Amino acid sequence: MKHPSEQDFALSVDEQQLLALLQGMIRINSVNPYLDPEGNGERELAGYIGSVLEGMGLEVSYQELTDKAVNVIGILRGSGNGQSLLLNGHMDTVSSRNMSIEPLQPTFADGKVYGRGSCDMKGSLAAMIAAVQAIQQAGVALDGDVILTFVADEEYKSIGTEHLVKTLKADAAIVCEPSDLDMVVTHKGFAWVKVELFGKEANGSRPHEGVDAIVKAGKFLVELERLSARLREKQHPILGSPSVHASLISGGTELSTYPDYCAVEIERRTIPGETVADVEREMQEMLGKLASEDEQFRAEYEIFFVREPYEIDPGEPIAQALREAYVQRFQTAPRISGFSGWADSALIHGAGIPTVIFGPHGAGLHGAVEYVEWSSLVQMTHVLANTIVRFCKSNENQNAGAM
Ligand SMILES: [Zn+2]
Repeated sequence: MKHPSEQDFALSVDEQQLLALLQGMIRINSVNPYLDPEGNGERELAGYIGSVLEGMGLEVSYQELTDKAVNVIGILRGSGNGQSLLLNGHMDTVSSRNMSIEPLQPTFADGKVYGRGSCDMKGSLAAMIAAVQAIQQAGVALDGDVILTFVADEEYKSIGTEHLVKTLKADAAIVCEPSDLDMVVTHKGFAWVKVELFGKEANGSRPHEGVDAIVKAGKFLVELERLSARLREKQHPILGSPSVHASLISGGTELSTYPDYCAVEIERRTIPGETVADVEREMQEMLGKLASEDEQFRAEYEIFFVREPYEIDPGEPIAQALREAYVQRFQTAPRISGFSGWADSALIHGAGIPTVIFGPHGAGLHGAVEYVEWSSLVQMTHVLANTIVRFCKSNENQNAGAM
């Protein structure tokens, strides 16, 4: 079978246009207002992107989430006889208060473009648009739809993609988070758990009347360290071990009083194959053991926020299409890797849309000096455009004219 290739369709990336798009986006503040109360949110950037997409003749729609948070979607319609592909990127950035460079001033120097969000992930947003422009300029007629989705709030609670997957379907997706041009096929999930320990208040001079909730929390923390050691024995081939740690602790009222309450909040990072049921079981085992050893031990727990881990089978058609497009560009297969952190990919993949992650190289994500490496962004755009053609042109058309 002959596959359509970059040469076949003379796909070429307009680098000037790519750079202009990236610079235009960096100039617009889209700091997530949940992370920084003075953040501008995504509305202004969504308007900018929406007008670019309209100029390209795409079908453009907006999803209103809050007064500051908006998703924008642009669809390049195919003939209707092929597989649809969703590309996803988040418009929000973290705060720029800690930056030592001008956050909204896109500076191009030493092969790098600097600015807040240049790598995480306005570079990728520009690449998503430029890849579709390359396909349009080459006059390639696709069979499946290309759905460009620019979402809000990935850096906080992902309300953008959470809403998106309730309203859109596609045959596959690429989340364009920066990945150093690796094909990322897995990442960890997490669960946040609040543990409340109950004691009995008493004056410090009357020990027989008091039960010290903070000391009981100490017993729980010892068990947590044991759990942490046990988790290190589990291994995922790419992600390594799951983990658990204590994040926050509070309790006590004053020096001369036995505290009747202590709260410990913990984070459990999960690997593929682990579910919230595993976290439930661990909590019940730890608290059950402590209660059986100490009749004064009283505790409750609540798992109050969960994000699932993510993993795709590299044999899925979208992973194969991306691999082939990468080989076409670099004459070698992409590195397969995983993220230790979490991304919107888990929500999209979890909604039944097979998802891979692919994006540029850069540094300083969330840091003082953020940049995206320009050459990696150009390469990413080529690979994206080629992947779209491979995935969204139907086999019948691919075979037409084959030798
Ligand atoms: Zn990101």
